[in-house]
Amino acid sequence: MNRPVDSKAYALLTGIILVSLLTGLIIDQFLLALCVGLAVALGLEIRQRQQLTQWLDSRRAVSTPNGHGPWRNIFDQLHRRQELNRRREAQLLLQLQQFRDSAAALPDALVAMDAGGRLEWCNPAAAVYLGFRSTEDHGIQVENLLRLPTFRSYFDAGDFSGSLSITSPVNPNQQLDLRIVPYGDGAYLLMAHDVTRIHTLEQTRRDFVANVSHELRTPLTVVNGYVEALIDQKEQAPDGWLPALESIDQQAGRMRSIVEDLLMISRLESDSEPHNQGTVAVAALLQDACREARTLSGDRTHQISLEADPLIGLLGNHQELYSAFSNLLFNAVRYTPARGEIRVRWHRDGDGAHCQVSDTGIGIAKTHLTRLTERFFRVDINRSRDTGGTGLGLAIVKHVLNRHDGVLQVNSELQRGSTFSCHFPPARVVTLDQPLQTG
Ligand code: ADP
Repeated sequence: MNRPVDSKAYALLTGIILVSLLTGLIIDQFLLALCVGLAVALGLEIRQRQQLTQWLDSRRAVSTPNGHGPWRNIFDQLHRRQELNRRREAQLLLQLQQFRDSAAALPDALVAMDAGGRLEWCNPAAAVYLGFRSTEDHGIQVENLLRLPTFRSYFDAGDFSGSLSITSPVNPNQQLDLRIVPYGDGAYLLMAHDVTRIHTLEQTRRDFVANVSHELRTPLTVVNGYVEALIDQKEQAPDGWLPALESIDQQAGRMRSIVEDLLMISRLESDSEPHNQGTVAVAALLQDACREARTLSGDRTHQISLEADPLIGLLGNHQELYSAFSNLLFNAVRYTPARGEIRVRWHRDGDGAHCQVSDTGIGIAKTHLTRLTERFFRVDINRSRDTGGTGLGLAIVKHVLNRHDGVLQVNSELQRGSTFSCHFPPARVVTLDQPLQTG
């Protein structure tokens, strides 16, 4: 690539030297003519270099200078590269504009933040949903623009695997699903999606279930009451009516349990934090639950044992925790054959406190484990119904644990038994000076 340039340079130098020598021969002043010739060659070089330096220094997009001899080649190459760069720059600008146009056309709010969480750019939807202004708010901490404690903790925690649900700071009737995506060199992209419709539907569903359950409660209590009264006077009942009455009683009782469980779930869904939180004496609570479980077991005489540290308390709501632990215990009774073993344990370690309910029952196949806490999910519908199940027990357990920062873990083996473990973080655990009585 450099060879033509070099050969031209040598040819020019040789030409100047030859002309100088010839002139020196004519005027009989070799040395002088040679010096003048070399000075001319040097002058030409300096001029071209000066032109190059001026061109490189020039900030404006001026075209490359006209060169002579070998310099023309250099300037031509520079010119070609300059053109190429111009075309690339124009293409990049076009792509950037296209990206901005498409981001601006998005119905979701998009906010680009630098590594320090400062606003770099945002689309028009960010103004509508969040009240951000791309130019005026440039360089301002997004935490200061979106003054919400929940957003601050979400951003500071740095775990962006989930999203955050907030009410729009601009429109109190708008519900937003906020998500942060880290990208590039420590920068972040904040996205806000309007979920008002889903939120309203969800609220309508919750209200509907709560209202229907509430409305069904009274008629069912009446039906239950009359049927029980009729069964009590079975001697006066016409022949063949007793089995029918008992069936009505059983089915109405089942419906009442479903309604009670649905109402419990509605209460748990209505707010994220339990009311009336205090120190719950878990050991005493489990003693009560075991007593009830023994009654449920009846003549199936399960061996129910409890091993609970009475000095470990839990910060939470007594009624909710009772409901969760007793659901696990009642399931153990219902899905364990007669005289089976059921063990309840409440203990603590470095990871927090743990409540375990183990049984030697029918067990659950691995394929079902992930769906257990879904509402109305049952491995075997008939078995669940026969044992008085509603299909809502584990959904209640999951809700209660969520509200107490707890996690449910299920280990099970078919025909060998199951262990349901509730793990609570250390922040929820209270060390008691002396055993408390049940709340
Ligand atoms: P259900 O009222 O039907 O028991 P749950 O939500 O409490 O509803 O439980 C869901 C399903 O999980 C049950 O139908 C049952 O198939 C299974 N299950 C729950 N606990 C146990 C257990 N201890 N042993 C075996 N299967 C269980």
